[in-house]
Amino acid sequence: CGVVGVWGAEDASALAALGLHALQHRGQEAAGIVSHDRKRFYQHKGLGLVGEVFHDQRVMATLPGHTAIGHNRYATTGATLLRNVQPLYADYEFGGLAVAHNGNLTNAATLRQALVRRGCLFQSTTDTEVFVHLIAISLYASVLDRLIDAVKQVKGAYSLIALTADMMIGMRDPLGVRPLILGRMPRSGAWVLVSESCALDIIGADFVRDVDPGEIVVIEGDGIRSIKPFGETSPRFCVFEYIYFARPDSVLEGHSVYEARKHIGFELARESGVDADVIVPVPDSGVPSAMGYAVESGIPFEMGIIRNHYVGRTFIEPTDQIRNLGVRMKHSANRAVLEGKRVILVDDSIVRGTTSRKIVDMVRAAGAIEVHMRISSPPTRHPCFYGIDTPEESKLLAATHDLAGMAEAIGVDSLAFISFDGLYRALGHAGREEARGRYCDACFTGDYPIELVDKEGHLVIA
Ligand code: 5GP
Ligand code: SF4
Ligand code: MG
Repeated sequence: CGVVGVWGAEDASALAALGLHALQHRGQEAAGIVSHDRKRFYQHKGLGLVGEVFHDQRVMATLPGHTAIGHNRYATTGATLLRNVQPLYADYEFGGLAVAHNGNLTNAATLRQALVRRGCLFQSTTDTEVFVHLIAISLYASVLDRLIDAVKQVKGAYSLIALTADMMIGMRDPLGVRPLILGRMPRSGAWVLVSESCALDIIGADFVRDVDPGEIVVIEGDGIRSIKPFGETSPRFCVFEYIYFARPDSVLEGHSVYEARKHIGFELARESGVDADVIVPVPDSGVPSAMGYAVESGIPFEMGIIRNHYVGRTFIEPTDQIRNLGVRMKHSANRAVLEGKRVILVDDSIVRGTTSRKIVDMVRAAGAIEVHMRISSPPTRHPCFYGIDTPEESKLLAATHDLAGMAEAIGVDSLAFISFDGLYRALGHAGREEARGRYCDACFTGDYPIELVDKEGHLVIA
């Protein structure tokens, strides 16, 4: 998901909508904005892309105020229903509060069961709603103390933006698995919170800093303060944000996503070079690594696969059927580049293997005489429980096949993945050992840094 918050600007909701637009890649299912104008809250939410939900001046006119928070949804828990669309808003004894959440809680079902027994009436099936109830039943008086009380009970990954009549709050989970960035508008001095720095660029805000793991930033009046309810924590940022999820023009935790991907390409070329005539990225996610691969290997980079930009990211479409259809709608082979050539395809990951299989078949049908595949992540062997929608283990190609079996399944002459040392060198570390314990890489290693409470208790939110 993508989250945005704007505090202290005239067109807060328009800026929030622009920010969401820049974060569209983080979730394409639904979008919503809640604003406040010092008198009351306003909200508008809908299913679909940001541009579809906020296409109309009349809609924007229903969201007045100096502050607004927004969310776009990428479902990891909960169905595609309007009542699951965030920000979630509730009226409390202290007033209204809206919350937008990126990430996934690992004990949401467990907490929900206990809350339902206590009489809490849930209205959605998202994990985010447990925050709403934990804040409601907290015995503390102030909103902040109630929020801290709530976050001390949840486990999992969360980058949150909350809005009350008097303050905007940003918070990251103690390990900082998902990103959250603080920015400021140069003229108005408005404060901005966003999932990725590319959302600051679109609205002309300056980068101030990443919110720290486990930090709460409280913006009220025209000031800002920081609270660290968990003390100092040691971060485990999601390495897959660099590999795939974030937009390449974003800078996260001090690293340019683009540079990281390009360096992975350098490393891949060094580790698993092969004789070929062209390097072809699987667009868009494979492009920066393919460029790095081409530079390092000296083999020309060509657009041998053309992407139709009017189709969203295939992975995010909900059913297998649509996903299969989506791949064909999205990519076409460029015969002029491929015919008679030995081709190296570069992509970011192999999940189920369906995209790769189709692309390889397409590239061969366009006349390629050899097809080699290079992947800028290690093999994806485990599901993510922290906010990326990887399928269950049995559906992951790398969980059920060895390297040769995978190569056969997708129909390539050779297949190689980046090594862990190569990946972490590309992120500026000496190698895997030096980076150990600094990132989450559980979908590749199975080393889950946050307890999987619901999974262990076999609990799901139905
Ligand atoms: P597959 O067909 O192997 O399941 O899909 C792999 C492709 O899906 C890659 O090209 C990758 O860019 C794309 N993809 C889109 N969304 C995701 C995601 O959330 N996780 C992963 N691992 N890959 C994704
Ligand atoms: Fe990121 Fe993978 Fe960890 Fe999920 S499991 S947070 S995708 S590194
Ligand atoms: Mg891709």
